[in-house]
Amino acid sequence: MNLSKRDLIKSAAFGSLALGLPLKGAGALAQTNTTGPATQRIPWQNWSGLQKCYPARRVAPKSLDELTSLVKAAPGIVRPVASGHSFQALVPTDDTIVSLRNFSGLLSHDADNLQATLGAGSTLGSIGAPLSAIGQALPNMPDIDKQTLAGSFSTGTHGTGKTLSALHDHLIGLKFLTAAGDLMTCSADENSEVFNAARVSLGSLGVMTECTLQNLPNTRLKRRTWVEKIGPFLERAEQLAEDNLSFEFFYIPFSGYALVTTINKTDDPIVPRGTSADEDGLMDLKALRDMLGWFPALRHWLTDLAIKGTEVEEHVDEWWKIFPSERRTRFNEMEYHLPQETGIAALKEIRTALERQHSEIFFPIEFRYVREDDAWLSPFYQRPSCSIAVHCYYEEDHKPYFKTIEAIHQRYDGRPHWGKLHTRNAADFAALYPKWSDFLEVRATLDPHGKFLNTHLKSVFGV
Ligand SMILES: Cc1cc2nc3c(=O)[nH]c(=O)nc-3n(C[C@H](O)[C@H](O)[C@H](O)COP(=O)(O)OP(=O)(O)OC[C@H]3O[C@@H](n4cnc5c(N)ncnc54)[C@H](O)[C@@H]3O)c2cc1C
Repeated sequence: MNLSKRDLIKSAAFGSLALGLPLKGAGALAQTNTTGPATQRIPWQNWSGLQKCYPARRVAPKSLDELTSLVKAAPGIVRPVASGHSFQALVPTDDTIVSLRNFSGLLSHDADNLQATLGAGSTLGSIGAPLSAIGQALPNMPDIDKQTLAGSFSTGTHGTGKTLSALHDHLIGLKFLTAAGDLMTCSADENSEVFNAARVSLGSLGVMTECTLQNLPNTRLKRRTWVEKIGPFLERAEQLAEDNLSFEFFYIPFSGYALVTTINKTDDPIVPRGTSADEDGLMDLKALRDMLGWFPALRHWLTDLAIKGTEVEEHVDEWWKIFPSERRTRFNEMEYHLPQETGIAALKEIRTALERQHSEIFFPIEFRYVREDDAWLSPFYQRPSCSIAVHCYYEEDHKPYFKTIEAIHQRYDGRPHWGKLHTRNAADFAALYPKWSDFLEVRATLDPHGKFLNTHLKSVFGV
């Protein structure tokens, strides 16, 4: 019989059902989120649905004057919100949520120096074509393009590549509104201490309105994706990181394989990406977990069978169509950034812990490289890093798995992604960030009454 991979998985699943074998599935693990008291307020929730709140005011000012009046007059806490793609409780408040969606688009540019000034509320996806049209390219992009510029800088959002730094490292100037209602301009030459603090600041110093980026010449890229046996692949992962502009891989749990992606500059003709099969692949892994979570050896064997022989894919296009992908399946995520030389050893420990203790997990482990930078709260501050991310289906309880993995990251001096789930607090951060107290000083000067601090940020900053 000639079965496709999906048929193979389905038939294995139905075989289990027909035999009356026990199922361990999403239903058994599903958690119900409570929705709080019903009010006239407009609810807010993040992309994964984990973070929710019922703010008294949700506002989207159209001008700087309107924003200034709002921030000055707002009673209680003010939290800037963007695309809501952070997993952590950075935004929730009962008071005021302010969106900068009307502060977007390309405002001006310097063609000779490849610099561009943009509205801080621009989504990454919306600036690709305009930047390309003026001959500029972002040096790197994260896995998706739904985030805004301000949201990305605020949490240290990054892509992957040994020589490529996170998005905030390409900032050369920034404007933001302080708690007092003053427009602060900062750069390496103007208010430089504030600039060092503000580039990654979790929306705690004020509301970013404009940013200026140092870009690269517009470029065409080739994306290559393939699967490879994890053992020999890990032996050459470091070399692949050296040899390619952008390099990442996913270890597929309960399998012997990694899914690898490289991105490099090219002059080849365009081969568009089309619709990605990644989401189908994820649902196949979920089906295997649902049906065979109780039988790891069979799960491993069938997963390998389904993956083996996956064809190499190559696509060529403009940078902004090649870097980001579509992520339609919702999940919660934890990601830590570790000293680069320890990354592979940590990954091996995480793989073992996952496969010994967490048969409920089917999401692959993501492994990336990020170059160091000098923003005070950058997770990559003076440290070339490897980033290891673990994911859990949004309807299922992520806490037991994330707790196991977070303990491993702690032993490796990992710094958590500010926008993703972690349980660390001010005392931990004081030890992890050399410029922690300098940042706290700038924050206390700019916002002495904690106008921008919600419950989560009070815990982060120990206020
Ligand atoms: C599917 C998915 C894929 C992802 N992929 C990656 C990835 O590849 N790499 C990576 O590093 N991260 C990734 N993330 C995490 C994401 O990039 C960050 O959490 C990012 O901060 C989200 O940006 P946002 O625009 O949605 O901002 P929000 O989540 O809405 O806000 C994030 C922070 O920015 C602050 N903020 C927003 N606007 C302003 C403003 N105008 N002024 C001041 N502060 C502001 C908020 O107060 C908050 O503290 C991913 C998330 C998801 C859901």
